[in-house]
Amino acid sequence: RGAHRLSTAAAAEEPITPPVQINYTKLLINGQFVNSASGKTFPTLDPRTGDVIAHVAEGDVEDVNRAVSAARKAFDEGPWPKMTAYERSRILLRFADLVEKHSDELAALETWDNGKTYEQAAKGELPLFVRLFHYYAGWADKIHGLTVPADGPYHVQTLHEPIGVAGQIVPWNFPLIMFAWKVGPALACGNTIVLKTAEQTPLTALYVAKLFHEAGLPPGVLNIVSGFGPTVGAAIASHMDVDKLAFTGSTATGKVVLQLAAKSNLKSVTLELGGKSPFIVCEDADVDKAVELAHSALFFNQGQCCCAGSRTFVHEHIYDEFLEKSKARAMRRIVGDPFKSGVEQGPQIDAVQFEKILRYIRSGIESKATLECGGGRLGSKGFYIQPTVFSNVQDDMLIAQDEIFGPVQSILKFNDLRDVIKRANATQYGLAAGVFTNNVDTANTLSRALRAGTVWVNCFDVFDAAIPFGGYKMSGIGREKGIYSLSNYLQVKAVVTPLKNPAWL
Ligand code: NAD
Repeated sequence: RGAHRLSTAAAAEEPITPPVQINYTKLLINGQFVNSASGKTFPTLDPRTGDVIAHVAEGDVEDVNRAVSAARKAFDEGPWPKMTAYERSRILLRFADLVEKHSDELAALETWDNGKTYEQAAKGELPLFVRLFHYYAGWADKIHGLTVPADGPYHVQTLHEPIGVAGQIVPWNFPLIMFAWKVGPALACGNTIVLKTAEQTPLTALYVAKLFHEAGLPPGVLNIVSGFGPTVGAAIASHMDVDKLAFTGSTATGKVVLQLAAKSNLKSVTLELGGKSPFIVCEDADVDKAVELAHSALFFNQGQCCCAGSRTFVHEHIYDEFLEKSKARAMRRIVGDPFKSGVEQGPQIDAVQFEKILRYIRSGIESKATLECGGGRLGSKGFYIQPTVFSNVQDDMLIAQDEIFGPVQSILKFNDLRDVIKRANATQYGLAAGVFTNNVDTANTLSRALRAGTVWVNCFDVFDAAIPFGGYKMSGIGREKGIYSLSNYLQVKAVVTPLKNPAWL
């Protein structure tokens, strides 16, 4: 197996100084940046080095209580649900414009806190963030109920009302995009929010929240409590005055928060959880194109994507060529300081994920998958991992079953469409799938047979604002983005009025 050609780059170079200052590290409650009740802070780390970037106020139950009261008051008494939808829409648009103006700094902060490449943050995620808020601003004044028929002399209408206080818990892999998926529809529908960021990446949400208030968001509408899952997250999930919970994270934690919601006030819950998505390369595929797409489907964002194409199924007729080319592509992958132009892969988020990925690589080797390239750390500091490719992967191996959440591609062989459908569906997950074929009938068969919330045909990771996203099976409950996300944040009220003097009597 070959060593990665940039194996010393990450260690040899001094990290580039990020072009941004950190100004917001406190909790945001009722429109004010405040210390936590306990006065405690926690460090957020630079994944390139493991060094502390900043100390951030650490929330706990008391802070969640304060944030929920502010959100409750802003909902019950405040102007937000009562202002016209057009006024809300204008605030969302002004916010999007401010984010666009500060895009460079926000992209730098996202890269610094998360380790994703600056190019990806600046050219991909910030424009998408702005697009998402434009999209939801567009919905704000187009939400309305229906007039529905009755069997008797009644006038019946439905009102689509905001639910109330939304609790939102997000992960660290796409801090800003997850913020937009959650906050955009909740605010467009007139709810107020208590949001918990991931403890690994608390910085960008606080920055954009500042911009939201500059854009005219009333105090108490959006509250942010940074901190840890078992304290802040659990307090939000079990709070009696939180009306709705939206969670993105692992399936294990999803089960915990669903139970907390059930045991408290039965708040409605949407969950975006893990995945083990198949990427199926059929025998008629253009191999070079398929190799490149399968590579990016897995390695994008350091492999830290819930929908990563982490089981690459390849037809036996093209398997050998596909494998050679995939290995060569992984070895050409440019790993290094994510601020450096041209770098394709930065460090993993933290030591916990780094160790977990290395454990899965060891498990792949022990279970007799063939390690084609990579397999180890890169450099001596920070959390860089070599782009890794396994071949000869069998369905029952841990690396084919569990979510690795790292730059580890598993290549599996198949020879029959019926068989690959069964194998692709044989996990607890059902988040996404990729299909690569030139045959429209094969594409139609696979896209209908795969039990996944998204099937990308001859493409992958297309995340436009209007495209719904979410999971079958243990990948989640509900859909985010698009028109479907609005129903997560609306109650439907039926209003029934007798028709006393109908015109036709
Ligand atoms: P995680 O479940 O550990 O954490 C997610 C969030 O939940 C964090 O904010 C964390 O602090 C919080 N949390 C942890 N324990 C909690 C508890 N007991 N009560 C309440 N909140 C708690 O997941 P992670 O490791 O940070 O993120 C990676 C996982 O997220 C992967 O499994 C990935 O597939 C999933 N993910 C899914 C999507 C999606 O849209 N489906 C998107 C991104 C990530």
